[in-house]
Amino acid sequence: MTSPTADTGAIAFAEKLLALLDYGSFTATYKFAVLLGLIDLCLECSDKSGAAPSVLTTRQLAQKVTELYWPQANVFATAGSTTVLRQCTGGQAEILTEIRRFRAGEVVAAAATPYEARRLAPDGYEALVGRVEWKLIEMPLPRLQVVGNREDPFIYRIGWESDIGIRDVRRGDFDNRILLVGDAGDLLVRLAGLLRPLIHRQWVAMVARINRDVVEDARLEEFMFGVERIPLERVRNPLRELQDNTCFYCGKKMRGPAEVDHFVPWARYPDNSIENLVVTDPGCNSAKRDFLAAAEHAAKWTRRMDHGLPGSRQLAEIAQATGWETRPGGTLSVARAIYLRLPPGAKLWLARNRYVDASRGELKIALSEGVDVGASTDARVGLP
Ligand SMILES: [Zn+2]
Repeated sequence: MTSPTADTGAIAFAEKLLALLDYGSFTATYKFAVLLGLIDLCLECSDKSGAAPSVLTTRQLAQKVTELYWPQANVFATAGSTTVLRQCTGGQAEILTEIRRFRAGEVVAAAATPYEARRLAPDGYEALVGRVEWKLIEMPLPRLQVVGNREDPFIYRIGWESDIGIRDVRRGDFDNRILLVGDAGDLLVRLAGLLRPLIHRQWVAMVARINRDVVEDARLEEFMFGVERIPLERVRNPLRELQDNTCFYCGKKMRGPAEVDHFVPWARYPDNSIENLVVTDPGCNSAKRDFLAAAEHAAKWTRRMDHGLPGSRQLAEIAQATGWETRPGGTLSVARAIYLRLPPGAKLWLARNRYVDASRGELKIALSEGVDVGASTDARVGLP
């Protein structure tokens, strides 16, 4: 139940967050990465009832931020030039430089996903995440919630100040927790669908501003956050086989081409792991667009991940054979966090031109079968 007071709280929270986005004291784009990273982690670490976590760690955030910057460290090719876009007014943001240095040193192809890079060079990748973690501790985390001269920790509290040195962090008793304030985690999850595109747009605008000399290109947002970069063909046929050549949504045999659909829509949460991918006929795929699918689809999707049923083993085999990312726990947590917060009456997609009202009761049942999920807390600090 959402009370009027709770709504007022959500609006006040959103207003403050917009102020952070607008406030122009940052020379690098880190604040956008930190905010998106926090939103993603709150979604991923939600518990079985969909409740958001109250504690995250700098290590977890560093992993997310590394993934966010990963594609952006690629060369951006325009008609006029090929260049790595600068993400800092005074040159290049160190996190991007670190990612490029890691790729060059470990000979990881630019086209590799972070998941593939971690498999190829686990130690080097961990060290990279450690360096990103230090950057976050030093710079954006202690300064993000300062507007003007005033600090207002309305999202999180941390146990260090902006003058912290790397030695303090290496000492071993460093408290790497990011404590979410009050219901901030819950609000980030509830507002995620609105905040994500807004943060994307602001981030893109800042990068366009910094790189005015090279960028006058509408493809910038696609380059920075797009889904097209990762080709899904590799898993299309194995998934088609897994589904016995039927469309995931309408269940009909597929005679023509099949398409890969993100069950939790990319616009809601960018997730290319095998668990989030289903195969559909072109009709269902284009009709579903960015809608969330109805409870009966969610139930079928959750059953596919159930450890006790053959589907989950086959999914694991597909991931193994294709080297594809797999994370059943995280994907299901995200779905629960999103679905179980839908207001009554929210429209879910059932079939072409057919929508049903979200019912929390139905969705709880649909999403509680299958794998049992614990929050993925990785509390280690592993600085270089
Ligand atoms: Zn279909």
